[in-house]
Amino acid sequence: MNSLWVGLLANMAVVALVITLWSNIRLPIFGQKGAVQGLAFGILFGLGAIGVMLIPFQLGAGFFIDLRMTMIGTAAFIGGPIAGLVTTIIAATFRLYLGGAGAAIGLVGIAFACAAGLIGWRVKVKDAPTLKASVLFSLVMAIGAMAPAFIYAMYQDIDTGPQIRLPYMTLVFVATLMASVALSNEIRRRETEVRNHMYRHVIDSLPEALNVKDREGRFIMANPATAVLMQAENADALIGKTDFDFYCQDVAAAFRADEDKALNAGSPIVEEQMLARMDGSRSYLSTLKAPFTDIDGNIIGLITHSRDTTDKKLLETALAQSDRRAAEALSSISDGLVMFDKDLTLVFCNERYRAMFSVTADLRVPGTPATAILYASIARGELIGIPQEQVAQWVDNALARLKQGGTVQFPLADGRWIESRTRPTPEGACFVICSDITAAKLHELELQNLNDRLSVLAETDSLTGLLNRRAFDAVMAEELDRVERGDSSLALLLIDVDYFKRFNDTYGHGAGDSCLKMVADCLRATARRTDDRAARYGGEELALILPDTDEKAAVIIAEEYCERLRGLRIPHTGSDKGIVTVSIGVSTLGRGSIPTDAARLIARADEALYTAKRDGRDGVRLWEPSRPRIVHSDSARS
Ligand code: GH3
Ligand code: MG
Ligand code: MG
Repeated sequence: MNSLWVGLLANMAVVALVITLWSNIRLPIFGQKGAVQGLAFGILFGLGAIGVMLIPFQLGAGFFIDLRMTMIGTAAFIGGPIAGLVTTIIAATFRLYLGGAGAAIGLVGIAFACAAGLIGWRVKVKDAPTLKASVLFSLVMAIGAMAPAFIYAMYQDIDTGPQIRLPYMTLVFVATLMASVALSNEIRRRETEVRNHMYRHVIDSLPEALNVKDREGRFIMANPATAVLMQAENADALIGKTDFDFYCQDVAAAFRADEDKALNAGSPIVEEQMLARMDGSRSYLSTLKAPFTDIDGNIIGLITHSRDTTDKKLLETALAQSDRRAAEALSSISDGLVMFDKDLTLVFCNERYRAMFSVTADLRVPGTPATAILYASIARGELIGIPQEQVAQWVDNALARLKQGGTVQFPLADGRWIESRTRPTPEGACFVICSDITAAKLHELELQNLNDRLSVLAETDSLTGLLNRRAFDAVMAEELDRVERGDSSLALLLIDVDYFKRFNDTYGHGAGDSCLKMVADCLRATARRTDDRAARYGGEELALILPDTDEKAAVIIAEEYCERLRGLRIPHTGSDKGIVTVSIGVSTLGRGSIPTDAARLIARADEALYTAKRDGRDGVRLWEPSRPRIVHSDSARS
């Protein structure tokens, strides 16, 4: 064989050998990152450069070449600054060692290859250059390689016509391109390998089952979690097997049906699956099945991702059971329970609550606002005692109570009484307990009634039905206060039955009592205003308290009473009149009078009464500062 071809092939073989070594020999040093990797790369390519320099070949007469440019340029272009510089230093050192006339120009060529490679490395963005970048770089190297070679050739007076130039450029171009493409492919392969390793790691450490099956349901790939789920020895033990090898017939058939569904649909489906194993244990799964296609888009299998939802399912079942129990407990208690959320919308109530408010039971369901329930209950006449014009205010108050909490009792139209106790929750919602308190309420009302009656009795004189002495004292104190405040004037009438001792003596004590009753009834009939209060002052003495009454009016009322009693014509043989009569003393206080105690006012009326007695009885006397003045006397009339 022609020595040109031998030399050329030998050079190519060295380049190929270096690339193969870098790609395939997995010395730990080649796997290192950064500077160490650059150093290893540089040394290998430096040795390669020495290799090609040792076997130069003759392209024309006296024109020897080798592929050192390719080795140095590629080392810098692919391996980066450290690899490039290490290769360059080794190659340059060796070239100097070789010596000879072309040493200087040889070093220029080496420096050019290093510089071009480093510029190319800086310009390309990724680790692995694209084909376009490799072609461009190879072209630059081919053109650049010519310059020092030709300077040297001219200096040595060697012929470098196109018949020499073209093959040399082509050689450098092809060799550089070959090396660059091979190295970038190797880089890509390594990147893919790293990525695959990462994916594999993710899949293997996934706690959820992930696997791939072919169209017939045979496992192609499975992660360890799949093996755990299927109770297989390990993931490899699944390969080539189907669900029928691990599950009972019907479970496997159901799973297969799901897979057929996903295969036919051609798109992912999610299924809730129940997994009954051969050993009797059960699991619940949430499973995604996604068809898996080849590069041409044909479905060739299924990717399955299963999440074990057994714990969640058990929790849900337990929760539903406890919900049911709570609901049963709530419905069996005798109180009505209702809960409103923070927007005061009913969220929960028991049956007892709805039965308690049967007229609006249709509205007392989750989702109804409290406002709607309250208005409906009033409109339908269930809630009573709320005046039309106060409805809005009443509803506002009830809503405020739901927010703030509190206890309230209210009657319903059917006579029942309800007590509702509201407790707000920290979340702004509220819980209301409604109790039927009808029995207790009626009892309370009865007691109240009894108390009222008792207090009336405590103030009433049993014989005459008028206020007793104690009540008389209380009313007097109240009225004197009003006078003092300037709110009213006051008149007091003290009435004494004339010759009553003789009446008793003549007709007996029982008749005396009856007579007293008649005298009292007559007085009650005389005191017509609600503020007028008649009392039994003691024995056969009565009193009439007349608020807002002046002297004149008081005397008129007193005379009217005398007249009215005379009109009854109760026989009294012990009296010179032949009938029962009374004597009356009147004392008054003007509006805003200087403070006067009750005793003084009574004493004055008593003084006037004494005068009436002295002046012949059956008459009225008004107390005056100097002496009681005669305003009327029976004798004067007759
Ligand atoms: P005068 O016209 O001066 O008032 O003569 P009098 O007899 O009414 O006066 P006196 O005070 O001496 O007598 C009052 C009598 O009233 C004495 C008492 O027996 C009688 N008396 C007082 N309270 C009652 C009562 O509740 N029932 C009866 N039947 N008599 C009573
Ligand atoms: Mg008396
Ligand atoms: Mg008397």
